[in-house]
Amino acid sequence: MANEQLQEAVNALKNTKVRMTPQRHAILEYLYDSMSHPTADDIYKALESKFPNMSVATVYNNLRVFKNVGIVRELTYGDSSSRFDCVTTDHYHVICSDCGKIVDFHYPGLDEVETLAEHVTGFKVHDHRMEIYGSCQECKNMSH
Ligand SMILES: [Zn+2]
Ligand SMILES: [Zn+2]
Repeated sequence: MANEQLQEAVNALKNTKVRMTPQRHAILEYLYDSMSHPTADDIYKALESKFPNMSVATVYNNLRVFKNVGIVRELTYGDSSSRFDCVTTDHYHVICSDCGKIVDFHYPGLDEVETLAEHVTGFKVHDHRMEIYGSCQECKNMSH
């Protein structure tokens, strides 16, 4: 499954002017393998032994390129550094307040909120965002 999605992302890049490099491929592969919404720093740390000449800035720039092409989403929560999500379909995030882990959560029923908001306010609604906060399974168990 992850491999198919990775291949789709690689194909999407091929249709743009963006050149596929070994670094870019490794970053994409990490995003799809980990499914963990990593920061640029997380990716850098995971790949630095493989690419000694790569800097955090390089990773960040490549993530920006992916974002502009539409194969990666940038998440900004609070003032911590951006996290990157390779799942670009609509979904919500459950965020652990203790360790910062982010887990995907699907709840299509919430789209009705947009329709309701339009009815009540007369706005043309484009988007909404919701985050759920709590303690993940590991953190929950540690506090007991
Ligand atoms: Zn946690
Ligand atoms: Zn996500």
